Formats: sequence, structure tokens, C-alpha cells
Amino acid sequence: MTDNRETQLLASVPNELFIGGEWRAAEGGKTLTVSDPATGDAVKAIADASPSDGKSAMDAASDAFPAWAATSARERSEILRRAFDLLQELKEDFALLMTIEMGKPLAEARGEVAYGGEFIRWFSEEAPRVQGRYGANPEGTGRMIVSQHPVGPCFLITPWNFPLAMATRKIAPALAAGCTVVIKPAALTPLTTLFFAKLLDDAGVPKGVVNVITTSTSSAVSEPIIRDPRLRKLSFTGSTPVGQALLEQSAQGVLRTSMELGGNAPFVVFEDADLDKAVDGALATKFRNIGQACTAANRFVVHRSVVDEFARRVTERVQGFSIGRGTEDGVTVGPLIDDRAVAKAAHLVEDAVKRGAQVRTGGSAVERPGTFFEPTVVTDVQPGSDILREEIFGPVLAIVSFDTEDEAVRIANDTEYGLVSYVFTENLARGQRMIERLETGMMGLNLGVVSNAAAPFGGWKMSGLGREGGAEGIHEYLQTKYTLTPNPY
Ligand code: NAD
Repeated sequence: MTDNRETQLLASVPNELFIGGEWRAAEGGKTLTVSDPATGDAVKAIADASPSDGKSAMDAASDAFPAWAATSARERSEILRRAFDLLQELKEDFALLMTIEMGKPLAEARGEVAYGGEFIRWFSEEAPRVQGRYGANPEGTGRMIVSQHPVGPCFLITPWNFPLAMATRKIAPALAAGCTVVIKPAALTPLTTLFFAKLLDDAGVPKGVVNVITTSTSSAVSEPIIRDPRLRKLSFTGSTPVGQALLEQSAQGVLRTSMELGGNAPFVVFEDADLDKAVDGALATKFRNIGQACTAANRFVVHRSVVDEFARRVTERVQGFSIGRGTEDGVTVGPLIDDRAVAKAAHLVEDAVKRGAQVRTGGSAVERPGTFFEPTVVTDVQPGSDILREEIFGPVLAIVSFDTEDEAVRIANDTEYGLVSYVFTENLARGQRMIERLETGMMGLNLGVVSNAAAPFGGWKMSGLGREGGAEGIHEYLQTKYTLTPNPY
């Protein structure tokens, strides 16, 4: 059931594809339905693109590229700044829309609008700061010019868990660099991207610079775009297996790629940690987004001397959480995205228990409409349990213990992933050792949340390639040219 405000908001969200600056139905008028995971109710039907719609989007991005690349950096910067300002005006609408289609509590959805908006502001500031170099070669016989150029039309594929921020983290740097884009959001949460495309149009983004295709057949629509010789760049955020398949497809055209993939973050609590900070950090990293974040801590690795106290405190706090639809006051834990996610969380807990783990609280799906799973704490998780190897992507906090620093490092690094790690210690030298020893692209040292538009977000190992945000982010959409000229004297 949706109230009046929700009905009005949903009616104002476009339900068609955005191609070449026009809203249009999918080929054959096909549609797909978006549902609210908190109720299971259908909320809106939108266009379901075919491969030929994908080609039209690629045509538009390719046609618009030369003119957009030729605009001044200041002009692109000002359009992005207008988009940021418009987002501030519409922040409550964007937050509510994300809560409806994805399920996160409204307070967290507001946090995502702030976080997602920062990428637009950051890259509006970065656009005019792209620089080159000029200098003599070592022999003194020539002058070297190093310049930066937009890579060309880009294909952006985003996941369902952060519907706004994953889109702005790609669109903003691409546009700042002078690239045009086709974006394909996840079929589970496409409404935010459609609403954002309308905002970009209102902000003055020229026709064809941003194109949106929504589809229930991701693979069939995406592959021809990735294999289109006019495409120059693929930026993907999602699971590692899909990222691997897309890298194979990208090899044919030797595409530039950015891959923000899965994680299996360790959260290490040493015996000298400030436990108040560690407990706050644990709850922030584990239960934000109902545990459905690539940066969510997956394995809590806690020193044996403090593990009981840590488990007791997190369990007590988790028992105070309130489950419900994210629009309701006081709700801290919304639904998981779908039935598969609930089944996965249930399997991981069951497998851990079978191998000797103890459930301190939660552990089961919730009997009510929608796809809810109880916030859960499990302790004494044994080596070999699936929960230590697989991305949980749900509200389950799994604890293992260790005795020595070397053992903590070995457990933390014992994964093919390397996105982020969290370390809690009051010992400065130990904190510095962890920076050097943990194999992850990011680290929270005495903090449970690291994301920031000004920082280079990205993983090591099978967590990905490239960085989003920071000074690095725009370079994912730029290519370098070196020119040699003679010594002018
Ligand atoms: P997913 O890989 O199933 O889907 C991601 C996107 O790819 C969606 O748009 C989907 O429609 C599309 N897709 C799926 N199969 C495809 C195919 N064969 N060809 C083309 N497109 C295809 O991931 P998800 O379930 O939407 O998101 C969860 C995953 O994303 C988790 O693994 C999480 O860790 C990861 N993630 C990573 C980051 C990061 O920055 N590293 C951020 C958020 C999410």
C-alpha cells in the first residue's frame, strides 16, 4: 500500500527509455514491473529495452560525443553543479523513491542522497582541474607535451543496492571528462536512475550525452553494446562473476574497463581496541543498507580475550533494532532485496551452525509480507564455513576469534577479495603494520565507514580494477596523449 505522497512521486518518475534526449517506449511496447521489497507489491511498470533499443542508445551516445567533448570544462562543470543544486531541492523525493524500490530505511536513503550528490559536486569541481605537462626531454632535443582527452562513449552498468550513488559515481566523472554515456541500472531498482536522468535533462545536459536503458534481459542487451566498436569504455559495479564475464567480452575491443566488484571485508578487533568504537563501527558497517553493501564487514575477527564482551555488546544493540518498511518511523532494518537474498542468508547461518557456530540473536527469515531476515549475530564460526568465504549481503554478523597478530592477518587476507578492511586498535604501530599487511584497496582504521567522494574507492585482487571518486576518479574516463615537438631553439 502506498500513500498519496508516494503515489504522486511514483507518477512523476518517467516510465520510458531516455535516448537522444527523448523519452520513448521500448521496442514492441514491452514493460517490466518494479516492486517494493517491503510489501511485495508492484509499484510501477517501465520500459523493458531490447537489444535494438540498446543499439539506439549507443547511436545517440556516439553521435553526441564530438560536440560534448568539445565543450569547455567550465561549461560541463556548471551543468554538473546545477544538477547538484537540483538534487538538493529534490532530496526528499529521491530518498523516498529509493526506500520504495530498494527497501533501505528513509534515514539511510537520505544519507545516500547526500553521498551520491557529493560525487556530482566533486566532479563539477574536478572538471576544470584536468591538467597536462610540458617539458624538455632529457636529451634536450625536443619538447614533450602530455595531454588528457575524453575516452569516448561509455557504457555504465550499476547494481541495485545503492541506486543513486552508484549512478552518480560513474555519470559525474564521465561527464566531467567530456564523455557521453549509456547507463543500464539493475532491473530491481531502475526508478532512481530514470528520475535522475530527468534531473540531468532539467540541469541542461545536452541531448544524447546521457542515455538510460532499463531491461529485464541484461545480458542480451549489454553484450552487443560492449562489442560495438564505437564503445570505448565499460564501467561496471556488481558481482565478481558478472564482472569476469564482462571483462571477457571487453577483451575483443580492448576496452578500457573499471570494475567495482564484490567484497569479503574483515573487521579485526585487537585486544587493545577501544571496544565502544569497535561496537559502533561494527554496527555501522554491518547493518547499513541491511548488510547489502560491498563494503559491509563479512567476517568479524576478534581477539580471544575480548570476543565474549564484543559479542555481548553487539548482540544487545542488535536486539534493539526495529524491523519494518523503511518509511515507518524508527525502523532501522528494512527488507532484503528479494527471496534469493533471504534464502542465501538463511543458508549461510544454517551452514555455520551445522559446523559449530552459535546463534546469539536472530537467525531466521521474518514471517510477514516482503523479504525480511532478522538481524543476526553468530559466534564461534568455524574455519571452512561458507559464511567466511561468500559475500553475505544480509544482516548477519559472523564472529571468529584469534590469538596472535599474525593469525589475525592470515585470517583477514584468506580470501580472493580485497575491497576493504576494518581494524580496531589503540596501538599506533600496530595500526600502521595493518595498513602495510592487509591486502585491501581501502581500510577503516578505528572507523566502520570509509566511503567519501573525495577518496579513491576501489579494490585489490578479485574486488576490481580502477578507482571511483577522488582525484583518480576522472582519469578512468580520460586517456593520455604524449606529443613530441622539436627543440624550438
Ligand atoms: P550483479 O552482478 O548481479 O548485477 C549488477 C548489474 O549487472 C545489474 O545492473 C545487472 O542487471 C547487470 N548484469 C547482471 N548480469 C549481467 C550480464 N550477464 N551482462 C550484463 N549485465 C549484467 O550484482 P548485484 O546483485 O546487482 O549487486 C550486488 C553485487 O555488487 C555484490 O557483489 C556487491 O559486492 C557488488 N557491489 C560492488 C560495489 C563496489 O563498489 N565494489 C558497490 C556496490 C555493489
